[in-house]
Amino acid sequence: RKGTVIITGASSGLGLATAKSLSETGKWHVVMACRDFLKAEKAAKAAGMSKENYTIMHLDLSSLDSVRQFADGFKRSGRPLDVLVCNAAVYQPTAREPSFTADGFELSVGTNHLGHFLLSRLLLDEMKQSDYPSKRLIIVGSITGNTNTLAGNVPPKASLGDMRGLQGGLNGLSSTMIDGGGFDGAKAYKDSKVCNMLTMQEFHRRYHEETGITFASLYPGCIATTGLFREHIPLFRLLFPVFQKFVTKGFVTEEESGERLAQVVSDPSLTKSGVYWSWNKDSASFENQLSKEASNADKARKVWEISEKLVGLS
Ligand code: NDP
Repeated sequence: RKGTVIITGASSGLGLATAKSLSETGKWHVVMACRDFLKAEKAAKAAGMSKENYTIMHLDLSSLDSVRQFADGFKRSGRPLDVLVCNAAVYQPTAREPSFTADGFELSVGTNHLGHFLLSRLLLDEMKQSDYPSKRLIIVGSITGNTNTLAGNVPPKASLGDMRGLQGGLNGLSSTMIDGGGFDGAKAYKDSKVCNMLTMQEFHRRYHEETGITFASLYPGCIATTGLFREHIPLFRLLFPVFQKFVTKGFVTEEESGERLAQVVSDPSLTKSGVYWSWNKDSASFENQLSKEASNADKARKVWEISEKLVGLS
């Protein structure tokens, strides 16, 4: 049978390119989990995806109610769940003031981390029940959360500190930042990516042996042309792709990044669990090292436990 893969944020950028790549193999049915139904439908059509290879379902990760509804709706659909890809993200590098999710969490961590945390916890049982030979849960990470890299050292750097802000609920009453500091949109995004990478490892420790599911994260390369940078200043959006192409040479096209994520979904050689994948200059995959913080097992447990409380799982 065809595999079923859910991809969050498949209406643009990396998520769309991955959906297209997988649907073209004829081996996958892609559930595009998107907040804007019409945008997703237009994107799938424009990408030339054929109708029998995808379904669009509504999911707004910045609302825990919506996440619960999506999980229930998927369960009722009767489809098995073979692979889940947590890809969607918001990035607000120029925001001066924080914005908030429906549940009152700072938007970047609330969407990118807490929304996905609840989603993957709610769908884990579905994955356990699938008889697919290679089940995978993939959470997209990033180099920018990794302070052991050049890109990860561009200020403001990611840091979760003692997580007093996360513990306080990331709301306007206490701090909107995980480490308890003042709001910084770029840092909030990087912190959310550290949480994504820590969550993947904690899933691996808790569930890999018992379930056989492969838990993985990746850095798809710098896809400097996606909507992720939509809120950046125009000069940045003009120069960033050029800089990435010629200076850092980390630039990848959306199409190439989609091929990479599609490999993590379905390549028979990428079944190792607990791994953070990257690609070298020749576009060959390799197991990359995470920064000290992004691989700290105590922090991973703490992020997990606090997040459980915030999303109402404990
Ligand atoms: P895009 O902005 O193109 O895609 C992000 C997707 O997330 C969009 O489909 C967007 O929906 C969706 N999304 C945002 N908020 C929500 C929400 N509340 N509920 C549901 N979906 C939502 O960016 P990219 O493709 O670049 O980013 C994809 C992933 O790749 C992210 O995890 C990012 O961190 C990661 N990444 C990107 C890099 C890059 O260089 N671009 C580098 C490293 C990692 P909509 O279309 O409705 O706006």
